[in-house]
Amino acid sequence: MISFSRERRIKSMQITLKNVGLLKGKDLTEEEILHLFDLCDAVWLHDGDPKKPHAELTSGLCSNGFFDCLRVLEIPDINEILAQQLARKIKIRCKVDWIIGSPYAAITFSYEVAKALKARHGFVEKDPSGKGMIWRRRVLPKGSVILQIEELITTSKTFKEVRRAVGEGNPEEVKFMNVVGTLVHRPPELPVNYDDGVEVVSLIERKIWAVEQKDCSLCKAGSYRLRPKTNWAELTRKNS
Ligand SMILES: [Zn+2]
Repeated sequence: MISFSRERRIKSMQITLKNVGLLKGKDLTEEEILHLFDLCDAVWLHDGDPKKPHAELTSGLCSNGFFDCLRVLEIPDINEILAQQLARKIKIRCKVDWIIGSPYAAITFSYEVAKALKARHGFVEKDPSGKGMIWRRRVLPKGSVILQIEELITTSKTFKEVRRAVGEGNPEEVKFMNVVGTLVHRPPELPVNYDDGVEVVSLIERKIWAVEQKDCSLCKAGSYRLRPKTNWAELTRKNS
């Protein structure tokens, strides 16, 4: 019996953005999920070929990859499908009371994970003072078990800030699970060990670096730089 790879199967199913609902209930591989990102024009990863351009970030740093999760999550069917994938992958072994996400891109995604896990949903907000995040509008019952869900993690800075805000914003003690779920995990180095034993479970994991131009191996190899947002088409050209 010939068995096709999952990636070939998804292509043979001729999944388009219009019929993506066909994927509901199926287990998808990382490659298949990357294919969904590609369909949404939401990912660019440099393949190491110096003839191809690489990214110049707003900070001026060079980078070898770029994810725009909003381009994926703005499509409700895909948002729901990916949230169900993550809910299954986290392998919850205890009762989860609340799923909490951070503003803004993770709000709808964490809501869909909460739906899949039959938990309640909440989100932290950006502090109006402009510094950090804040939890308000709701008091969580004492001992509530919380699973944190993000859409993209580069470093631990944001996910730690969410935990701090929820902890300080509730009068009674709550319990964060030691797992943080995310759609994309793109740290500058892999593997990565976060403080406090927190484990990141992701649907896509890629090492994406950002370095000064003087330290950039792609610049040294002759690859030129492009700003992703204004040169997205050229950066993601399929046949280069
Ligand atoms: Zn460079």
